Amino acid sequence: MGWDYKELKQLDHTHLWHPFAQMQEWMREELLIIERGEGSYLVDIHGRKYIDGVSSLWCNLYGHQRQELDEAIRNQLDRIAHTTFLGLSHVPGIKLAQKLTEIAPPGLQRVFYSDSGSTAVEVALKMAFQYWQLKGEKNRTRFASLAEAYHGDTVGAMSVGYSEVFHRFHRPLLFPALRISPPHVFRCLHKMSEQDALKAAIEEAEEQLSKERDSLAAFVMEPLMQGAAGMWSQPPGYVKSLSEICRRNRILLILDEVATGFGRTGRMFACEHEDVSPDLLCLGKGMTAGYLPLAATLATEEIFAAFLGEYKELKSFFHGHTYTGNPLGCSVALAGLDLFQKEKILEKMQPKIPYIKSRLERDFLPLAHVGDVRQCGFMVGIELVEEKVPLRKYPPEKRMANRVVLEARRRGVIVRPLGDVIVLMPPLTISADELKTLLDVTHESIRLASES
Ligand SMILES: *Cc1c(COP(=O)(O)O)cnc(C)c1O
Repeated sequence: MGWDYKELKQLDHTHLWHPFAQMQEWMREELLIIERGEGSYLVDIHGRKYIDGVSSLWCNLYGHQRQELDEAIRNQLDRIAHTTFLGLSHVPGIKLAQKLTEIAPPGLQRVFYSDSGSTAVEVALKMAFQYWQLKGEKNRTRFASLAEAYHGDTVGAMSVGYSEVFHRFHRPLLFPALRISPPHVFRCLHKMSEQDALKAAIEEAEEQLSKERDSLAAFVMEPLMQGAAGMWSQPPGYVKSLSEICRRNRILLILDEVATGFGRTGRMFACEHEDVSPDLLCLGKGMTAGYLPLAATLATEEIFAAFLGEYKELKSFFHGHTYTGNPLGCSVALAGLDLFQKEKILEKMQPKIPYIKSRLERDFLPLAHVGDVRQCGFMVGIELVEEKVPLRKYPPEKRMANRVVLEARRRGVIVRPLGDVIVLMPPLTISADELKTLLDVTHESIRLASES
């Protein structure tokens, strides 16, 4: 198409600072410049096609350039691109709120918009905090969360989602949170069976949370799968037990479904698998089908009601972002949810979930350098290890996952790892053939990178 690769690369290297990137290495590497997308594929400026194996960072649901979604944005553009939600309302914002509360777990009736997963979490934390202040339980000022949780990169989200690698320089800036060990850690550290790990994790949560019950405002967690930790899955029953511990101790439950929401796990929301309704629910990523930055925090009427009063009491939730509830974002989110129903997305995913599972167990687990495979619906983590017995991780300088990524890229597949975990998160509408190619290429790439 007449793009000058060299020039673009040089400009990128001169002016850009990419997220989560060691820019010194970035500048030595080939640059992949995406020019467009088609269905499950990304296309670079040379016209080469790649399967989007991580849904453009976990957010694309129905593929790229979906006509219905493109049209929804164009139609909205013909009316207005943006109008504020502060002091005014608008049609797509109202309609989307109705739709979200319809599909959300019972009890969540209020929608507060923001623009990223991180801000959805910040909003939930601030709502929970202010809720208890308004209720007169002024000592409930702390938060509990899971070890190695990830809730975003803003300061509040980092505080509850601390990761040593990501956040060590900012540690003094963060507020302390009570950390609970998730079942995955027990299993890994203590080589326990899933059932024993589940039991130990629940016992620890029970003990810690009930001990701190009077000082805790809320417990926040990613249900079923801790994504950015490296796809740490939770055995059935964990979310349910934690929700009951929270209820018993009157601690608000915040579920961060930014990654797991909108069909990722094979149900609309992960908490449905466990029949759990949180007090606050954070949504982002897939909400706009991967088109525009929009997020939402859903709250119960109980929480909402605590903020009601005369203006002069100054009990309002004084929080809002400039682009809150952006109409283009709301329009495409609505069109996406229409597609979800019309195309029976969940139904069509179902046979693909056991297919992924069988491929992981049959083909990936036996590989010499695959230590573990974890899956929940269309969320997959394949953990690479230098040695299986005794378990030994790769030294970081080997950049093994990166080698796999580059092998896959040469074969027309885009994946992005988390540490030494290869993540697969295809669009929910990926075809059976494309899914097979994604798994075949990933398998081949792991074999080539790790056995050479
Ligand atoms: C990605 C993610 C976030 C942060 O969302 P951003 O849109 O990147 O701010 C928060 N929580 C979870 C579970 C996530 O996966």
